[in-house]
Amino acid sequence: MVKEVSFSLPPEASADEKQIKMAAALRAGIDPAQVTGFRIVRKSIDARQRAIKVSFTIEISEGEDDHVREIEPLRFRDVSKAEEVIITGAGPAGLFAALRLCELGLRPVILERGRDVSERKKDIARISREHVVDSDSNYCFGEGGAGAFSDGKLYTRSQKRGNNLRVLELFRHHGAPENILYESHPHIGSDKLPSIISSIRKSITDAGGLILFNKRVTDIICDGTGIKGVITAGGEKFMSENVIAATGHSARDIYELFQKRGVAMAFKPFAMGVRVEHPQELIDRIQYHGAERGSYLPAAAYSLVQQVNGRGVWSFCMCPGGFIIPAATSPEEVVVNGMSASGRNSPYANSGIVVEIRREDLMDFSEAGEMAGLELQRIVERTAWEQGGCTQRAPAQRLADFVDGRFSSSLPKASYFPGIFPSALHEWLPGFISTRLREGFRLFGRKMKGFVTNEAVVAGVESRTSSPLRILRDDISMESVNVKGLYPCGEGAGYAGGIVSSAVDGMRAAEAIAAKKGLL
Ligand SMILES: Cc1cc2nc3c(=O)[nH]c(=O)nc-3n(C[C@H](O)[C@H](O)[C@H](O)COP(=O)(O)OP(=O)(O)OC[C@H]3O[C@@H](n4cnc5c(N)ncnc54)[C@H](O)[C@@H]3O)c2cc1C
Repeated sequence: MVKEVSFSLPPEASADEKQIKMAAALRAGIDPAQVTGFRIVRKSIDARQRAIKVSFTIEISEGEDDHVREIEPLRFRDVSKAEEVIITGAGPAGLFAALRLCELGLRPVILERGRDVSERKKDIARISREHVVDSDSNYCFGEGGAGAFSDGKLYTRSQKRGNNLRVLELFRHHGAPENILYESHPHIGSDKLPSIISSIRKSITDAGGLILFNKRVTDIICDGTGIKGVITAGGEKFMSENVIAATGHSARDIYELFQKRGVAMAFKPFAMGVRVEHPQELIDRIQYHGAERGSYLPAAAYSLVQQVNGRGVWSFCMCPGGFIIPAATSPEEVVVNGMSASGRNSPYANSGIVVEIRREDLMDFSEAGEMAGLELQRIVERTAWEQGGCTQRAPAQRLADFVDGRFSSSLPKASYFPGIFPSALHEWLPGFISTRLREGFRLFGRKMKGFVTNEAVVAGVESRTSSPLRILRDDISMESVNVKGLYPCGEGAGYAGGIVSSAVDGMRAAEAIAAKKGLL
């Protein structure tokens, strides 16, 4: 019989599998010697009380015929001679669309503007060391997309559990640790992601799919009936009546191309703000009630949200034990984001703190039409670059100074490798953002005592939180509403945010194409 049981253990016991199994068997009323199967379904930290606990849900079985749930195996077909589907972009949406096409019997041909994930590391290093941004290969562009050197947090607010679980299983099949299948806040880490992405590429090419690098798509080929293919910067044509557009939210040239070609798009509310960085030890103290973290608890995280003057202000992509990184995709802009390695062991805790931006906040950009959000991003990112002396250094201010509207003449140490320098962010960030941010921080400081401190620093700008546009598509067929055969998907299409939901969206696009062809 398979039973599911839930219980909590102190942190030290939670690190010992024998003790977890014993506790599960006792709770299930099974003789530990008779246990035939054991699987952790869920694990989470409960830090609400001073005595911190680790909560488990476990599936446990006794008897030879009963088995706990096994991870679904990979079932790829030989697609080398199958009908081709073009995928633009090898981020999570594009890669998972390709994996799903391989399962469904269609051949993915991925065109990626950037370089493969190991070559990309060199381009990323140049941003930090030489302040040079390659507009085809950076923290957002290249194999693995924005997901490759991301934090690799794999949780999502989306409720489609089955699909989310399949994404986690596919990550597991390609080398991610098993605990991503049950942790309440699964995390891979930027040190482990590149080899997982290479392994995904191998699965796709072993099945007969194709991934081509340095292929920036610059145009689409359409006739009266729909899309027929794409053209790359080198002038090559790739023909297919099914094109998945998975180019992410930073591919501004794709939005401009789609606008020029009349692909229907609309403004989408998005968010913008700053990245805040505290000493990790300070966040641990706040979240773990003043106690030492010790060896058995992870670097503490937080999640904050508040309404300020009719707009949400919230923490975004919190990276305990992490680093702030330069996420610009073109020269002459500064964009910050965050990541952490699997061990989450840097002495810093960072998080985006962002303000919701709606259409009515952008009246000054009304001439830009649906591209108004993109225009705001451009202007603010360029200002950040100018403020930083036209380098990749990030303009920064001590947190309490930012909240109180005071210039910081000195700054604390920060993890941001290109360097930070003092700047009055409260003055030059657009007023509808900075006033709400400052008030939001004040309110966060009431929830987390000690959060608003001059030991912390804010750095700008956190401007690429989600797509400021939506490429309009049919809910069921997933095709563009006015270009048949074009499947906008992932974060850039405005229907997903984050690695898991983008991957799920990519798989759905693959399934929609397979369904159209009667393969599903
Ligand atoms: C530093 C950082 C940390 C992050 N941390 C997390 C996290 O911890 N958890 C999480 O869920 N999310 C995180 N994110 C966000 C996450 O990475 C994205 O939501 C996700 O990658 C979106 O997937 P996507 O496939 O839709 O687009 P992307 O990942 O943006 O991929 C788009 C791909 O398209 C390619 N492309 C663009 N234009 C063209 C063109 N014209 N021709 C050909 N190819 C093109 C790009 O090079 C890129 O490879 C982070 C992002 C960053 C930058």
